[in-house]
Amino acid sequence: MNKKQSALHEKKGISQPETTSKPAAEIIKKNRAKQNSVDTFISEILKGNITFLSRAITLVESTNVKHQQKANEILERCLPYANNSIRIGITGVPGVGKSTFIEVFGKHLTSQNKKVAVLAVDPSSSINKGSILGDKTRMEQLVTDKNAFIRPSPSGTSLGGVAQKTRESIILCEAAGFDTILIETVGVGQSETLVHSMVDFFLLLKLAGAGDELQGIKRGIIEMADSIVINKADGDNEKNAKIAKVEFNRALHLYPLRESKWQPKVLTASALQNTGINKVYEMIQKYFELTKDNNYFNQKRNEQNKYWLLSTIDQQLKNNFYQNPLIKKALSKEINNLEKGKITPFNAAKRLLEL
Ligand code: GDP
Repeated sequence: MNKKQSALHEKKGISQPETTSKPAAEIIKKNRAKQNSVDTFISEILKGNITFLSRAITLVESTNVKHQQKANEILERCLPYANNSIRIGITGVPGVGKSTFIEVFGKHLTSQNKKVAVLAVDPSSSINKGSILGDKTRMEQLVTDKNAFIRPSPSGTSLGGVAQKTRESIILCEAAGFDTILIETVGVGQSETLVHSMVDFFLLLKLAGAGDELQGIKRGIIEMADSIVINKADGDNEKNAKIAKVEFNRALHLYPLRESKWQPKVLTASALQNTGINKVYEMIQKYFELTKDNNYFNQKRNEQNKYWLLSTIDQQLKNNFYQNPLIKKALSKEINNLEKGKITPFNAAKRLLEL
């Protein structure tokens, strides 16, 4: 309404619409508050709104106490809508082809009308804030796919903290309608164990070497893997990949049958040439048929929930302890005493815990 119209209205005794009578700043503030309300977050996430999903994940990842409170409220309210997905962990050493594999595998899934979320647990992100998925250009096609959502690894002070945030992000992605969650991690240590504790199916990507495949592969990872996929089975490498497949198969059969009753499978694939990818998906589908039938699927998710309950308490207790100003002061004093040989580490710990 321009000035002239407004004056005319006044003359005729017509009351001004509310929007013009209130200062614009107040209205903007109100709108913003509504946009930011937990209710709006929930309704938008449930509609599959990626912007709100991303914003909610940012809240989950934030160290700000207010953000965390809001994130917890959103998480609680999303929980009834979560759980309806399959969660697949993908690991392998840098260079094995994880990104390339996830790109073609993800495209294969979206071509089957699946909605795919790709998350990561990256130990390097805890240290230098770098990230395996940080360079999204490595998944050019998946990034632009409207049925895919890619989120780099959160950064954090501890790997456990990073993993917890990823686990919470899974809940948000599921509430937003993503039915297949892929979690990438680098095959170098503790991160696989953490990812294993949040997925239903764990896939290990390997390269064929020159006959010494079984060396240099940690027993623990083999025990966790539901499948080993030998990638880069193309060109001159194809023959070696087939040999490696036989060897891994033989090795896997040496382990006792698992609680899931699933016999881990070895497959070959070429992520670059997009061969063998459909076979990987068929195998994964068979795994889910079996484990949903024999109820291992639910049993494992319950176990995982218990694990995350306990590990969250652990984490919180530790945080509370180390963040306590009294402890901070006393700890540096005890460390000083320790260095001077005045006290044993056990006594120092006892005193601090009693404090
Ligand atoms: P990541 O570090 O495990 O994520 O590995 P990348 O996906 O970045 O791949 C590392 C390199 O291996 C890149 O140059 C890819 O093009 C190449 N690569 C990935 N998959 C294949 C494959 O199946 N065959 C061949 N020949 N090269 C591949």
